[in-house]
Amino acid sequence: MKAHDGMYIGGAWRPAAGQDVIEVVNPVDEQVIGTVPAGTAEDVDTAVRAARAALPGWATTPPAERAARLTALRDVLVARADEIAETVTAELGSPLKFSQAVHAAVPIAVAGSYAELAATYAFEEKTGNSVVYQEPIGVVAAITPWNYPLHQIVAKVAPALAAGCTIVVKPAEDTPLVARLFAEAVHEAGIPAGVFNLVTGLGPVAGQALAEHPGVDLVSFTGSTAVGRHIAAVAAGQVKKVALELGGKSANVILPTADLAKAVNVGVANVMSNSGQTCSAWTRMLVHRDQYDEAVELAATAAAKYGERIGPVVNARQQARVRGYIEKGVEEGARLVAGGPEAPREKGYFVSPTVFADVTPDMTIAREEIFGPVLSILRYDDEEDALRIANGTVYGLAGAVWAGDETEAVAFARRMETGQVDINGGRFNPLAPFGGYKQSGVGRELGVHGLAEYLQTKSLQF
Ligand code: NAD
Repeated sequence: MKAHDGMYIGGAWRPAAGQDVIEVVNPVDEQVIGTVPAGTAEDVDTAVRAARAALPGWATTPPAERAARLTALRDVLVARADEIAETVTAELGSPLKFSQAVHAAVPIAVAGSYAELAATYAFEEKTGNSVVYQEPIGVVAAITPWNYPLHQIVAKVAPALAAGCTIVVKPAEDTPLVARLFAEAVHEAGIPAGVFNLVTGLGPVAGQALAEHPGVDLVSFTGSTAVGRHIAAVAAGQVKKVALELGGKSANVILPTADLAKAVNVGVANVMSNSGQTCSAWTRMLVHRDQYDEAVELAATAAAKYGERIGPVVNARQQARVRGYIEKGVEEGARLVAGGPEAPREKGYFVSPTVFADVTPDMTIAREEIFGPVLSILRYDDEEDALRIANGTVYGLAGAVWAGDETEAVAFARRMETGQVDINGGRFNPLAPFGGYKQSGVGRELGVHGLAEYLQTKSLQF
């Protein structure tokens, strides 16, 4: 157990204004592994002032030099990848292999992609008798969740820095240690003082103070729809820009021509990955009624294999919440074919990989985001019915379509009200824009679209 002091503000670790701390707990054995300072409005104010002071210098630093600093940052992340993976495993509970392959590797890919974009993006273009400039939006407030703790930070910091913005990050309470490690990496990479600042603290205290701060020009938030709605309302008071990455209830549509076994197996893996704590997870599997029983059997078998392989969920509250949803599913008449509400181990915040059959679109488990290893399998009659069910939620973050023929899958995907669709499995692309339709959010992250969130446009006419 280590007491970590200070916040990274203005290029140095400074003592926090208050005495309160946040305990960081390992979800596997429920032991406290460290503490970090719980920041106050005073810490937030100091950090925003540091970011504002650094803005003129960084905004006018040539893009090629900003790109060089981002490359250096990527290189430090590569050098410290093992430490990153171990830290995420300790505070989030994910198996070490997964932490290496995803929690450490994805942020490295994203930081690298923005190093390249900073160097190649057209920040200045001619159109007719005008010159159009893409200028940094200013000081960014980034408020991030715990589920992919470093990725969520890098998906905001890398484009913000590429754009010429300065930033204050308030990471999730459950996973502040990897955020501190990232601040060390920023320092090692030689990014100038005040360009990146870190304030750890509670959402309603430090997060709220940051969203409200008049010195912030854009709030980029990833987290629950409830908090996102609140942040948008706070920001509206000052006509501050917001980027919101919120919840999801994504559909995995298996069309009758698909390779059923592959679609079901990959679909189950997608939901169980990171113990179901993925906003874009395909939590609703849609299967044609003629193939339904076979799909249910395949899914139950696949889920059973995950029993010993998945980590816990992040904390006791999340464990209780997920188990509550499983009980609700049973109460509302869904049929449990794998897992269930009982905790599989005495210690740790584990939830059994759970699969429900006979789920109908009106059930709570088909409508609300569970954020745990729980899959709902729904039956459809024909393509129109599948589309109605797929689009029949308030969310629209991601999804998947499987078909024998790619053209058929693409035609269906184009009719889905959602921001990102994987065709016959898909593959992660750090340049592909990610973000939500409907109540899944506002704006996009990653690639050129993610960079554009941190820019504002000026035109000069000649
Ligand atoms: P959360 O909304 O509770 O917290 C997210 C962040 O907001 C944390 O840093 C928290 O401290 C802060 N916060 C809480 N209250 C605040 C307030 N009043 N003012 C300012 N900040 C405040 O979400 P969570 O439980 O950490 O994360 C899980 C949620 O995140 C899920 O709903 C999931 O779908 C969503 N998520 C979305 C994406 C995406 O890209 N769309 C990615 C990951 C997670």
